[in-house]
Amino acid sequence: MKNIGMLELRGESAIYAGEMRVAIDDVLENHAYINGPQVAELEIEIARRAGTTCAIAVSSGTDALLSTLMALGIGPGDEVVLPAFSFFATAGVVARLGAVPVFADIDPQTFNIDPQRVEAAVTGRTRAIIAVHVFGQCAEMDALRRIADKSGVALVEDAAQAIDATYKGRRVGGLGDAACLSFYPTKNLGGIGEGGMVLTNDEGFADLVRRLRNHGESERYVHDRVGGNFRLDTIKAAALLVKLRYLNEFTEHRRRNAARYDELLAGSAVATPHVDEHNKAVYHQYSVLCGRRDELRSFLAERGVATGVYYPIALHLQKCFASLGYRPGSLPLAERTCSEILSLPCHPMLSDDDLAYVASCVQEFGDAATSAEQRRGGVPSTRQTV
Ligand SMILES: *Cc1c(COP(=O)(O)O)cnc(C)c1O
Repeated sequence: MKNIGMLELRGESAIYAGEMRVAIDDVLENHAYINGPQVAELEIEIARRAGTTCAIAVSSGTDALLSTLMALGIGPGDEVVLPAFSFFATAGVVARLGAVPVFADIDPQTFNIDPQRVEAAVTGRTRAIIAVHVFGQCAEMDALRRIADKSGVALVEDAAQAIDATYKGRRVGGLGDAACLSFYPTKNLGGIGEGGMVLTNDEGFADLVRRLRNHGESERYVHDRVGGNFRLDTIKAAALLVKLRYLNEFTEHRRRNAARYDELLAGSAVATPHVDEHNKAVYHQYSVLCGRRDELRSFLAERGVATGVYYPIALHLQKCFASLGYRPGSLPLAERTCSEILSLPCHPMLSDDDLAYVASCVQEFGDAATSAEQRRGGVPSTRQTV
């Protein structure tokens, strides 16, 4: 039996640990622990990759979103439209500013926010739309742009899972008014701690985020606005610069894994992920749908295959948002996705053997389910479970 995890940081870090030690030593020798030159260098490198004119390194993906919404002036009485299916931070930052998160249902195939639902959710109080590029596939940005322009609201990309993903040939980061990245260790560009970045093509907006990152200071000890301490440590920037050299290779490996799974899982008990033709996904997760998700999950665990459930509870049904009045059934597609989604290991350290093993376990699950049906004398259920 194999033992396959969702992440292989030990194997991965062996590849770059030597270079990273050198980079970290350099920070230790120069003592510029905050605002060292590596921070600016990382900003330049990532802006160049994304094709944006500005990048502001911050303390986490969450703080990237928070400082972006602060720079947009979002506060009490404002509404922000966002998908019901995302990591909690996307909604948490809206609520922390005293604004109201308005949840929209998703496209059940791409798991991304459905522009039609966004249009229906926009009111006179809406100030921004947050598009999350879930699992590393871009949301439908052209349609969202049209809605944002028509209603005069900002469009923010939550690209925490999607660095280097493309939409109609354009990279994430410059597809909205601002974009937010995360360097949390499990993300595609994972650092050695918390970290994030705001990307934008608007110099004035970038200046504001840069000031908010530093308590809203405009010059030493002069504060025009209240900001926070959202800075990224030099040591983390130095480590990320090393990691960045491997990002293309790791992303290509994730894409090859996904293509292999697509073939190996055809006709199995799961529905493989759908990627729109104009999208190039970076497979932060390879997520399948299965009507008997929890059974499949235990079946795989018994065979040494780890899996993830992102996300088990839709955002509108989180207890902390109970006062907003959503009920089970309010956003049925997000809710069904939460009960059927399962992410398989897709990290860059997987071998062809590993992929074949995971896929054969999934196939075995389907065969076991079919023969159980036949023993009961029933008609085998349809194998595709969407
Ligand atoms: C990880 C993540 C965040 C938050 O990033 P942190 O760096 O963990 O604060 C926000 N949104 C999405 C979609 C994420 O996956």
